[in-house]
Amino acid sequence: MKVIGHLINGALTHNDDSGAGFRLQDVTNPSTNEVLGKVSLASKATVEEAIAAAETAYPAWRNTPTAKRVRIMYRLRDLLEQNADKICELITLEHGKVLNDAMGELQRGIENIEYVCSAPEMLKGEHSKNVGPAIDSWSEFQPLGVCAGITPFNFPAMVPLWMWPMAIACGNTFILKPSERTPSSALFIAELGIEAGIPAGVLNVVNGDKEAVDTILTDKRIQAVSFVGSTPIAEYVYTTGTAHGKRVQAFGGAKNHAIVMPDADLDNAVAALMGAAYGSCGERCMAISVAVAVGNDTADTLVEKLKEQIATLKVGDGMDNQNDMGPLVTSAHLEKVQGLIATGVEEGAKLVIDGRNLRTPGLEQGNYLGACLFDHVKPEMIIHSSEIFGPVLCIMRVETMQEAMDIIDRHEYGNGTCLFTRDGEAARYFSDNIKVGMVGINVPLPVPVAHHSFGGWKRSLFGDLHAYGPDSVRFYTKRKTITQRWPASGVREGAQFSFPSNG
Ligand code: NAD
Repeated sequence: MKVIGHLINGALTHNDDSGAGFRLQDVTNPSTNEVLGKVSLASKATVEEAIAAAETAYPAWRNTPTAKRVRIMYRLRDLLEQNADKICELITLEHGKVLNDAMGELQRGIENIEYVCSAPEMLKGEHSKNVGPAIDSWSEFQPLGVCAGITPFNFPAMVPLWMWPMAIACGNTFILKPSERTPSSALFIAELGIEAGIPAGVLNVVNGDKEAVDTILTDKRIQAVSFVGSTPIAEYVYTTGTAHGKRVQAFGGAKNHAIVMPDADLDNAVAALMGAAYGSCGERCMAISVAVAVGNDTADTLVEKLKEQIATLKVGDGMDNQNDMGPLVTSAHLEKVQGLIATGVEEGAKLVIDGRNLRTPGLEQGNYLGACLFDHVKPEMIIHSSEIFGPVLCIMRVETMQEAMDIIDRHEYGNGTCLFTRDGEAARYFSDNIKVGMVGINVPLPVPVAHHSFGGWKRSLFGDLHAYGPDSVRFYTKRKTITQRWPASGVREGAQFSFPSNG
């Protein structure tokens, strides 16, 4: 049986020197629930070994010219393109998303690396001549040391690529802890990083669970932690990491609403909603899970058109690109989503389409659930307050755009949102005032491109700086400002007791 281990100090290892023997966990194919292999869950000692390797590698890496660090990123980009099919297969086998969708995720990851290639430009700092008499001053961005990233199951290739390429391009060394449910693609990409020339110890991968995470959060040698996952764990990571003196950014869950205005092009809005709600089986932190229709006529038309489209949706094995949607990640997650659908019915929402009736001949053991559509969902319902993370779209009905915006603003999460309209004034008011971090106007998944940064508001992000883009340079560096003067030799100067200024 395949064992998915760790990458420590430039070498793959399955060993766990905890003395307590291996802890292994099944990795399953969501389409069949067949066991693909076992992931090794790192002990504290194994994580400490990785931290020690990263600490040892740090001084030489910090002093490696940025241009040389970045040259490795150019090579990695090429290797990712050459190995794209294999990476996407690994993603689909463990996650279940359709191959084309996996390719989209990988492409976004590659775009992050392309942005990272401009690190020399971003790290060049700021310089001022003659800030005082013959005094020059400059600010530079220095690396932090050993950094770590903890990532979720749903973007197993892309989210790690938000983190470690920029961290190491800035001169840090790194420990990545991928999701134990989808570990293979992140590990393989890290191996490609080594092939591209990343020196031993600069990038390490430890697979594992809470034990590995807690070791990362409490070890004094780790300076900064980036986390992406569910809100309860994000909050835990933020409070524990910061209590241990670390810089932490922790991205959490979401409930993303789209407002559909009466003037919207409803056919296009429906097409956009189909992809944003049901793509990747709804397992995206930017998935649209609520459509708030302004006016009953809008809602009625929306529901009718969605019903027609859902009837044409192809659900099946993600390895077949003819399918629109694959299975959910695990049987436990399927059960959780089915439970929430039952809750919605009990709460009195109208289940217009019940995906629990889906039949997938030959794949009966898989974690399949068809698209579900709820109408007449109310703000206080559990299916509205909680993140379902499945193929479930809720329709809410309101009379005005302001009412829809109030529902969004009151929600615990503030990751993404979208407005469908042809009214520029409404669009401008919405984007200016809505309390959400990423806003789309007729764009259902407004995931920022690599040269902008990604981040939600409210309980979708704990910390200040967003992921990738310009914020990531700030997150993975600390500013130092140097003020310098070389007095002419032989000139004697008296002590000055007033505060130095140009006054
Ligand atoms: P998760 O919180 O279960 O796991 C994320 C990471 O935390 C994994 O590496 C996991 O091993 C670790 N972890 C899990 N339980 C832990 C515990 N008790 N103590 C310490 N570490 C623990 O999340 P998931 O199910 O893998 O991913 C889905 C969630 O991630 C959704 O809520 C989704 O919205 C969110 N997400 C957010 C973003 C974003 O950018 N805001 C992006 C992708 C996913």
